[in-house]
Amino acid sequence: MYTTELTKYAAKTEIGKTSRILVVEDEELIREMLVVALEGEGYEVIIATDGRSALEHLKNYESDFGEPVFDLVVLDLMLPQINGLDICRIMRHQGNSVPILILSAKASETDRVLGLEVGADDYLTKPFSMRELVARCRALLRRQRLSNMPLIPVLKYKDITLNPQECRVLVRDKEVNLSPKEFRLLELFMSYTRRVWSREQLLDQVWGPDFVGDSKTVDVHIRWLREKLEQDPSHPEYIVTVRGFGYRFG
Ligand code: CA
Repeated sequence: MYTTELTKYAAKTEIGKTSRILVVEDEELIREMLVVALEGEGYEVIIATDGRSALEHLKNYESDFGEPVFDLVVLDLMLPQINGLDICRIMRHQGNSVPILILSAKASETDRVLGLEVGADDYLTKPFSMRELVARCRALLRRQRLSNMPLIPVLKYKDITLNPQECRVLVRDKEVNLSPKEFRLLELFMSYTRRVWSREQLLDQVWGPDFVGDSKTVDVHIRWLREKLEQDPSHPEYIVTVRGFGYRFG
């Protein structure tokens, strides 16, 4: 009845990626309800009906870039072959840090504690409402997303400070207003100080490969940028012309 094919639903997260959830549950009725509820929220849902296939899914869906391909695992405890606690243990042992929400028919405190001790992030006791489940999933996904968000470092060079998060630039302790293109140019330059860029490379990086226009656009923006950054724009110390090649920062 269910296949492991990716569903067509696409709930976009704030970073534009669909959250993919692995549901591990052997009881068909509960599994069916979980799939309906989570797909209804727009998540991609992949299912496993026993412990072994759950581990296979986790292995098979591992991407080549070392990034976990599941954003969340909803994991029943009592499963054929390999139980939920062992799956949890194995995942954490393998360094898989994907959030795990444990579902259990057992209401005892020891099981809850045990589940959290082996590395689960949250615990729901059956029977639970689908509303509760969806809310827990959403919270775990949100938490995961925030912790995955890379902090872009503030760039500093001599008297210039560029804060990519705040889109602010300070020159000699005074804030300067840059256009988005000027900002991107400066950010690129400051990320690779002393690297020489050709005009075509700068066009490609800042304006994008689809930009129609010539490399004079770059020269014009460099001139504006120099006026905002340099103490003497005709003798620039930051954005330096490298004759025959292009420009360099620093
Ligand atoms: Ca079960």
